[in-house]
Amino acid sequence: MTEILVTDVLVVGEGCGGLTAALAASEQGCDVILLGDGRPPVTAISTGFLTYAAHEGFTRDQLLHAMGEASGKGLCDQALLRRLVDEAPKELGETFADYRIPVERAERGMRARRALGKSGRDLLSGFGTEFQERDSVEDMTGLMMEFSSTHGTALYSQLRKAVNTSPKIKRLRGSALVLEPGATAVGALVGGKPVTVAARAVILATGGLQGLYEFTDTPETLTGDGHGMAADAGAALVDMEFIQFYPLAVREDGIPPLFLYPDFPKLSTLVNDQGENVLRKHLGEASQYLAHLQNWDQLSALMQTEIVKGRRVFVDFRETKPADWAPDSLTGTFLSKFIPNFREQPVQVAPSSHYTIGGLKVDVDGLTNLPKVYAAGEIAGGVHGACRHGGTALVEAITFGRIAGRHAARSLNGDAPRTIASLLPSERKAGAPARVDEAMTKLRHANQMALGPIRDRARLEDAGTRLAELREEVGGFGWSGYGEMQQVLRVERGIMLSDCLRQAMLRRTESRGTHARSDFPQTSNDWLKKQVVRIVAGKPVFTDVSL
Ligand SMILES: Cc1cc2nc3c(=O)[nH]c(=O)nc-3n(C[C@H](O)[C@H](O)[C@H](O)COP(=O)(O)OP(=O)(O)OC[C@H]3O[C@@H](n4cnc5c(N)ncnc54)[C@H](O)[C@@H]3O)c2cc1C
Repeated sequence: MTEILVTDVLVVGEGCGGLTAALAASEQGCDVILLGDGRPPVTAISTGFLTYAAHEGFTRDQLLHAMGEASGKGLCDQALLRRLVDEAPKELGETFADYRIPVERAERGMRARRALGKSGRDLLSGFGTEFQERDSVEDMTGLMMEFSSTHGTALYSQLRKAVNTSPKIKRLRGSALVLEPGATAVGALVGGKPVTVAARAVILATGGLQGLYEFTDTPETLTGDGHGMAADAGAALVDMEFIQFYPLAVREDGIPPLFLYPDFPKLSTLVNDQGENVLRKHLGEASQYLAHLQNWDQLSALMQTEIVKGRRVFVDFRETKPADWAPDSLTGTFLSKFIPNFREQPVQVAPSSHYTIGGLKVDVDGLTNLPKVYAAGEIAGGVHGACRHGGTALVEAITFGRIAGRHAARSLNGDAPRTIASLLPSERKAGAPARVDEAMTKLRHANQMALGPIRDRARLEDAGTRLAELREEVGGFGWSGYGEMQQVLRVERGIMLSDCLRQAMLRRTESRGTHARSDFPQTSNDWLKKQVVRIVAGKPVFTDVSL
């Protein structure tokens, strides 16, 4: 028996995109269901930088240039970018004031501020037992706040408190799985049971899909549920070839994949397992220290060039002296906890998938091409173009979360939601035993090697063969019960989304922003266009959109 819940606005995902959307819709007088799956949102472990939140010392034109040209490499959706630049100061200002979010000035913007001595656990206490699982946000946040400087938890916890006290928002713990094509109803699993939420508008805010890679500094649970269910219902995706990698994430057994802040001494180098200085090898004698290279995309690509040849890469601090290290160096504090002799022994690092730049194609109100289906936060694509300027993701998620929430609420025209008995696939399906973990591991590995920070035709085509084999294998999986069905659906959609990424990367025969092709190293004016992809009869179909 499927339970049917009826509401005005359904918001899926409880990061800052979803929380701000739910609050904004409820403040317009709507009844809101906020469906969150209890898995850690990136928002809660983020560093809390809010770059350009209030135009701190920059003119509008300077900001448009910094984000649109210097970072986005000419590929930003200009209408989205203008709306962000024009409205972020007001939206952010109101958010800080209304939900009492403490902020402080930071370089080029603001930063969420956490009370001194408060740990991630302290900030999240009172939110129930929801984050008690492995990879839980409490564990990740506690860790990051101790060794890094996760101020995003302060932002997250204030938004959560506001949601918890709103009489118009009903929180539901569960996973959205199916979006009904042509409608605004979602099939979800809540407490292991099927539920249909029949809404009058839906806002998807399920975050990125970096969990489709083998190595990520985000929760690996983010495998693109929202992208998958929207694409299955006919939504268009844009800029899928652009995935942002962080080059220097620690890749040692038993150590969390935290990324190293560039606050290490100037004489730090990068070596491979053959003892070669990686920067000198690729860039020449003048570039032997990490301090010489500020371009993270280039650094990620260089490292991956070594990794795809089967080599390992290490940060080498052996030339540095204890006095070279600032006492409050985040890298130093973090490493000394896990690797006390890190100055004598190189530390393995690798580029980690960090941010999904592309995503659901939206208009300036956050509306997708599906009627009354919105997207906000990292799931939405287009605004950042070919590369995201650091610290602008939270600003984007909050600004467009609020815009989408308000717009969804105002779009309701008195139509009753359609109630559909059940949207989930059958609870049982005959077939081969579902070896989902094994399939997901293979998928993540294939993506890491071929769809990583450096790409070429041969590896992308080979990945196509791998994906086809996996699709065949997973298509034969059976399941017994909704839990297993959900796992199979996730890996099936993971394969579909990976193929969208792969084909977008293969089609873009140039290098631009985060997209580096070793066989097409130049940027080409012919590619001053966006790629939009939709799933038609199970296959990605691309359209190029000139700018
Ligand atoms: C280590 C780190 C540091 C960062 N620091 C900064 C920073 O300082 N400044 C900045 O601007 N950006 C930063 N970012 C990026 C930024 O934090 C994220 O882009 C942003 O928080 C994403 O917010 P969101 O609401 O879109 O998604 P998230 O915060 O990821 O929330 C999405 C939620 O939806 C849930 N969900 C997924 N699928 C379903 C489903 N089917 N049903 C129900 N729920 C579902 C997820 O489990 C998750 O809880 C950082 C990222 C990382 C990894």
